Amino acid sequence: MNETLWNEILEETRVLARAAANPRTGMLSISPETAALLEKIVPAATVGFKDAVAAVQDTSSEPIPSSEAQVGSQHAGETALSSDTSPHAASLAALAEEVSVCTKCALHEGRTQTVFAEGNPNADLVFVGEAPGFHEDQQGIPFVGKSGALLTDIIEKGMKISRKDVYICNVIKCRPPENRDPLPDEKQACESYLIRQLELVKPKVICALGGHAAKTLLRTDESTGRLRGRWHFYQGIPLRVTYHPSYLLRSPGEKRKTWDDILEVMKVLNGEVTPVP
Ligand code: SF4
Repeated sequence: MNETLWNEILEETRVLARAAANPRTGMLSISPETAALLEKIVPAATVGFKDAVAAVQDTSSEPIPSSEAQVGSQHAGETALSSDTSPHAASLAALAEEVSVCTKCALHEGRTQTVFAEGNPNADLVFVGEAPGFHEDQQGIPFVGKSGALLTDIIEKGMKISRKDVYICNVIKCRPPENRDPLPDEKQACESYLIRQLELVKPKVICALGGHAAKTLLRTDESTGRLRGRWHFYQGIPLRVTYHPSYLLRSPGEKRKTWDDILEVMKVLNGEVTPVP
């Protein structure tokens, strides 16, 4: 195969992918095998034509973990381009599509795009945060930027699991202006989407990041500090409250407490503890 033909094939593939993607969500359903192949493809200009071809030809028939079969997404709400073809993954994708055109509250007027979720539709652990900020609004992905990097560290360096293996979402799917706190009527308007997400993912544990998530899920006015340190239950699912990463960036002295909370979450994930309502 020569380089010109290779580049033509790549361009044709891009055109076909764009045409086949859902126009609202930008999502494209692909098989695990195709996902594995796509992860091997790198631009010829970056690594050299021979290496690019070799990277693809090197793809053996060895199975890849399901989490590895998920290709990163550029659009709001994508647990897509997920190769997960389970009914609830499809239901999550349909919900993301619905959210992407939602106008139920005034926040839709200022958004660049909705921020639905990121991660594994079969996750044992769901993190629920507050609302998208500037970077999330730009990228359509929850918890990017500095607070996202801290959350990723907690998950990957602390818990030793891949961020792709958990499910991350927010109470609110559109960015409030100037990152202000979401208003009660905005949280009320958006809550049904979160409820449905949690119904579909059905995690073993929920970790509420900060007061807005905790108060929404637990229907309480208690502060994060008072809610921490014990198990709560959301629809029978154990729920742990901890500080939001953006708060930890402002108050690094509280990181120790968050780590204590995460250790309790890990005990449930590891089957060492089964909280009882
Ligand atoms: S914040 Fe939620 S309810 Fe409001 S427009 Fe966005 S998706 Fe709809």
